[in-house]
Amino acid sequence: MSRVVVVGAGIGGCFAALSAKNTDPDADVHLLAVKPDRYRYEPGTVDVLGSVPDEEKPVVRPTERIGALPAEHPYKLVGEEGVNRALDYLDDVLRYRGTDRNALAPTVTGGIRPTYRYPAAVAAGLVSSQRPMHIVGLESVTHLDAELAAERLDSALPFDVNASTVEFPVDSPETPPLEGFAQTLDENSDTTEGTPVREALARRVRPALDIEARVGFLPVLGLAAHDEIRTELESRLQADVFEIPVGEPNLLGIRLREQLFDAVEAAGVELTRASVTDCSTVGGSIRSVSVDGADSQRTIEGDAFVLATGGVAAGGLVGTGTEVIEPIFDCPVDYPDTHREWAAEGPLDDHAFARFGVDVTPSLKPSVDGDPVFENLFSAGSVLGGYNFVEEGARTGVAVVTGYEAGRRAVDR
Ligand SMILES: Cc1cc2nc3c(=O)[nH]c(=O)nc-3n(C[C@H](O)[C@H](O)[C@H](O)COP(=O)(O)OP(=O)(O)OC[C@H]3O[C@@H](n4cnc5c(N)ncnc54)[C@H](O)[C@@H]3O)c2cc1C
Repeated sequence: MSRVVVVGAGIGGCFAALSAKNTDPDADVHLLAVKPDRYRYEPGTVDVLGSVPDEEKPVVRPTERIGALPAEHPYKLVGEEGVNRALDYLDDVLRYRGTDRNALAPTVTGGIRPTYRYPAAVAAGLVSSQRPMHIVGLESVTHLDAELAAERLDSALPFDVNASTVEFPVDSPETPPLEGFAQTLDENSDTTEGTPVREALARRVRPALDIEARVGFLPVLGLAAHDEIRTELESRLQADVFEIPVGEPNLLGIRLREQLFDAVEAAGVELTRASVTDCSTVGGSIRSVSVDGADSQRTIEGDAFVLATGGVAAGGLVGTGTEVIEPIFDCPVDYPDTHREWAAEGPLDDHAFARFGVDVTPSLKPSVDGDPVFENLFSAGSVLGGYNFVEEGARTGVAVVTGYEAGRRAVDR
């Protein structure tokens, strides 16, 4: 029986663990999660490829453009067939929607974002459907200026986009209050006037609606009872209801975490909340990792390991001011020599830091000068270099595709 240890439980790590178990149901797969709270930032959609470097036209069918990517791009390393295989597997794991074409979803700033797979909560807001749309802002929540977003969308789209801002019917003690609002909608608790909160919210939104066939909210429409809440609001508003992803805390990302962790548990993957601090090696192989648990330190042995610890923000890569390191396995990281070159001038320019990451072989083994650093270490997600997550709109897609491939190879090696 093969023992696979996956370090990091973001999307890349979860897909690596699921894929290892899917490839060999008898494999003993251990997933080590320090703080899966980064899902609070996830958009909850799967963006596979929005644009190809040096091309102005947006990508329509991501899987048809793999060949146009640079040789070191993770998708190019995995190959078109591998990308397709991983995306088919994504459809087995997540109850998401989409076709072979990118869908276009509105953003809170009134922009439009290409995405490949999306949850039902996002579906009614896609701008490829040309039905008039109404966006609802909430007083006390600064994540969305509904009127401004609607004005921008209205000027860019061939249908009407209107907006209104209402006060949420109950208070939440939290700042920002999004999770508190979601909880009251889950519980459908009463307002001070004794009206159930879902009905009270619909009553506040209804007078502002004209002919709009769909209504967009901030992602506050519950966690446990999300489908039920959306259905009830749709019936009360006589319109389709959707959510627009926001920055933290994004309930669309939190719902994605719930789905992935349920899938991990159902697959029989062992999940341990622990931080990996170090590894022990024998020759060119890793033998074990050391973990700091809640109240103990221990080592976990494995036959193969997957590095899925994310980029700089997640702690998978650490910038010291003069160098960038990968702290667990000490894999070499590719970055410009002088600190000045790490970032470009403008916020939306081509920043070198967006490409920082470990170099890998075509089988996703971290490498130096093309040779694997360890024969039994694979890697997945944003710890990888060779792609620009901002420019290409390829973020979650890379985590899914390389996670799937790394997990499969870790078992199959
Ligand atoms: C602010 C923000 C905006 C985003 N916007 C988009 C977007 O617009 N479109 C899109 O598709 N995707 C977006 N994403 C998603 C993101 O870019 C990637 O899809 C995804 O986060 C990459 O997953 P990952 O598994 O590689 O890394 P992460 O999600 O970062 O997960 C890595 C995990 O490893 C853990 N870890 C780190 N070190 C250790 C250790 N020593 N021991 C144990 N565990 C460890 C971390 O705590 C973390 O849980 C966004 C993410 C963020 C944070």
